[in-house]
Amino acid sequence: MEWGRGYVQLYIGEGKGKTTAALGLTIRAIGAGLKVAFFQFFKPPTSSEVKVLESFYPQVLYQNFHAGGFVMGNLSQELIEEIRRGWKKALEVAEKREYQVLVLDELTYALNWGIISESELISFLQKKPTSLEVVITGRYAPQSLIYEAHLVTEMKLIKHYFDCGVPARLGIEK
Ligand code: ATP
Ligand code: MG
Repeated sequence: MEWGRGYVQLYIGEGKGKTTAALGLTIRAIGAGLKVAFFQFFKPPTSSEVKVLESFYPQVLYQNFHAGGFVMGNLSQELIEEIRRGWKKALEVAEKREYQVLVLDELTYALNWGIISESELISFLQKKPTSLEVVITGRYAPQSLIYEAHLVTEMKLIKHYFDCGVPARLGIEK
């Protein structure tokens, strides 16, 4: 199919819908015959969408990068290394030009915690293959990333049933 220039999209904010928006875009993209690299950071690959994404291999390349979080209030070395490994892999995948869409789900936390520097990410976005569409999700994004992106959608929290004690539900939140 015809495929032109790829843009940088950012889904941020405290309301629900960032990862599901990235998943919706993935469905649309594969329906159009595009190939998607879907990289999920920090969370284990236990959410139900993972089974679907993996079933679409090789049109979808799903990769997960996580490790046991914090040690005495500090990020564990294991987690830092795992996220760095995922970041490096994402750069390689972008360079290969096999995929038209690269989703970096929850990547903004890597910036918030200093695992990836803003300048590293911005430099990647400036030098990425022109045809690659990049989608980044996570709650908070630095101004430099908002400036660099071509599309920024903030999921605004107006109400969430979690505040009434509703736990994460299978098929809806996980
Ligand atoms: P989704 O994956 O549903 O699109 P999201 O990507 O926008 O959500 P994340 O910040 O990645 O949201 O949160 C992951 C999950 O945690 C989501 O399903 C979200 O609904 C849920 N969540 C959001 N806020 C809270 C909260 N205050 N307490 C518990 N869980 C929450
Ligand atoms: Mg999410």
